[in-house]
Amino acid sequence: MNRHRLTVVVAAFNEAESLPLLQPRIGAVLDALSADGVEGAVLYIDDGSTDGTWDVMQRLAAADSRVALLRLSRNFGKELALTAGLDRIEEGAALILDADGQDPPELIPQFVAKWREGYDDVHGTRMERDGEGWLKRSTAHAFYRVIGRLSKTPIPADTGDFRLLSPRSLDALRQLRERHRFMKGLFGWVGYNRVAIEYHREPRSAGHSKFNFWRLWNLALEGITSFSTAPLRLATYLGLLTALIAFVYGVWVILKALFWGDPVAGWPTMMAVILFLGGVQLIALGLIGEYLGRLYEESKQRPLYLVDTWLPGGPANAREA
Ligand code: UDP
Ligand code: MG
Repeated sequence: MNRHRLTVVVAAFNEAESLPLLQPRIGAVLDALSADGVEGAVLYIDDGSTDGTWDVMQRLAAADSRVALLRLSRNFGKELALTAGLDRIEEGAALILDADGQDPPELIPQFVAKWREGYDDVHGTRMERDGEGWLKRSTAHAFYRVIGRLSKTPIPADTGDFRLLSPRSLDALRQLRERHRFMKGLFGWVGYNRVAIEYHREPRSAGHSKFNFWRLWNLALEGITSFSTAPLRLATYLGLLTALIAFVYGVWVILKALFWGDPVAGWPTMMAVILFLGGVQLIALGLIGEYLGRLYEESKQRPLYLVDTWLPGGPANAREA
């Protein structure tokens, strides 16, 4: 029965320490759900790990026939790893979870309950973020506010990738094949019936975060440029404003020369104007470049990811490992 199949999708990059802690928790939840008429499965995606994550995954799969494994040819990043995983789900709903235990699997039944009520996109909204510094929390907070203002696509604040997608929203998501994938925005684009579940984001169970500030900054840029052209418009307005100021100033300079003569002076003002205009032009060019670069990458039409190994789970697990 289509309606009652649920695949938990976990992208993992160097999570050899976290996965053995996570799998029993997911397993227990799936056991409870199966009593409730939901046939559960787990799909782990090894996003080009270098620390033995794949061996750990194979052990987990050998021990539990509900576990399927996908290994990418290299590290493609979380967004593409998730895409690769979602592409492999043949039927039923998907639930996306972080490998590090920050999104508690124990909440899955709540997500399923909402799905049964008829919701298509059940997403976890973090009330608190334990174990993360104030700088990460405040920049994340600011980012969600900025993107919320700039983008026409609704992107709920403080919502990560912890979510359940019904079969039809999963299907819709899979039709979005853009290369620059800002998942939070893509989920928002799909729409359908959405509902939030509030939860406490726990500290990482083991290992360390894969997102340093540089990666987060890039993710933020990705989000803004993929889901808004407001910066381009900003460049236009900035240009208009400076042109206006330059015009007024030009009139003033001409009038001054006409009425009071023109003693050669004004080196500081000239430099100031040239530098200012140069700066504004460079900013505008850079902005255009950001968008052009994305257009260029998109135009190459490369596959989004490459698969190294696919172990679909089921009774074959024991033999493969
Ligand atoms: N991840 C991934 N590929 C990457 C980076 C991260 O699959 O290139 C996974 C990682 O294993 C984890 C999830 O994405 O399951 C979230 O990563 P992390 O916990 O490092 O991010 P944070 O919670 O600190 O934002
Ligand atoms: Mg984490």
